[in-house]
Amino acid sequence: MKPWEANIRRVTPYVPGEQPKKAKMIKLNTNENPYAPAPGVREAARNFDAELLRLYPDPAAEVLVDALAERYGLESGQVFVGVGSDDVLAMAFLTFFHSDKPVLFPDISYSFYSVWAELFGIPYERPALDGEFQIRKEDYYRENGGIIFPNPNAPTSLAMGLSDVEDIIAHNQKSVVIVDEAYIDFGGESALGLIEKYENLLVVQTFSKSRSMAGIRIGYAMGNQDLIKALNDVKYSFNSYTMNQTSLALGTAALKDEAYFQETISKIKATRERAKKRLSALGFVYPEPSANFIFARRPGTDAKVLFEALKENDIYVRYFDAPRINQYLRITIGTDAQMDALFDFLEHY
Ligand code: PMP
Repeated sequence: MKPWEANIRRVTPYVPGEQPKKAKMIKLNTNENPYAPAPGVREAARNFDAELLRLYPDPAAEVLVDALAERYGLESGQVFVGVGSDDVLAMAFLTFFHSDKPVLFPDISYSFYSVWAELFGIPYERPALDGEFQIRKEDYYRENGGIIFPNPNAPTSLAMGLSDVEDIIAHNQKSVVIVDEAYIDFGGESALGLIEKYENLLVVQTFSKSRSMAGIRIGYAMGNQDLIKALNDVKYSFNSYTMNQTSLALGTAALKDEAYFQETISKIKATRERAKKRLSALGFVYPEPSANFIFARRPGTDAKVLFEALKENDIYVRYFDAPRINQYLRITIGTDAQMDALFDFLEHY
């Protein structure tokens, strides 16, 4: 080993889903939205003045923060934005999980949580989901250094009822509870209405799924002003200019078209209903999906073998080689035509 190697921080990174560079493929592996962003986004991109790039962006990202505050009926001081919700969540781990007690999150959940905890040296424990993949709220009624869970959960797609979410928050008023609502627009009830009642609650959402803008990288957190101030203080201690000029312009444009947003979500929900029926007819079972994906297994069919077979035919879904879930495939809801191509393959397989 070279002497300087001893000083390197070694981490086991999060592994994002594949982004294959193929012209023709059915891409149902990273929960992207199959529909284009709102038409106003394209127009904002066309009208974007590259001259602006000479200047640093507004470090407070005011136009976007204000637009989000207006959309959700909040004060601007209750909103924080970042480079995708991954950036927002990483900042939130760094800001709020600063205790010797373990942070709690489910054993089957977004796999980035343990990566951030390891990176920042945060102790954590992962209470097991029950046999039906539900979060057992009682597991979170104990001393902890913070709590985070997605609702709906990923990769299970299962939503927890708002009253159970509230029970977890109410039992944990000595720590910050983060509800990661990356998929909430596709099902389940948002905890956003509880931020006035619980000052320890942070709700995190994203433009990547329901707003069809995974490529722009915008995520946001909503909570009481003290939480948002603490997040901003950490952000300004790390990188003041997280939101670039194009993100600010295009993200703000996206928020203006509520009708398009609602229409896209309705289409995805309708396709999800169709997909549920087709999957059931093909012998698959799955927890009730509330997100833009279905977490399915087929008794008698090996998930990894099927995953590879799909891939060979340029149909990409997500497979996790992890305990308890290695017989499942996570299938993003695409367009009806994309789903039909998947079902045609499965029927022949
Ligand atoms: N939370 C959950 C539960 C997710 O599945 C994802 C998507 N990988 C994210 C957060 C991050 O999404 P983004 O950074 O694109 O906002």
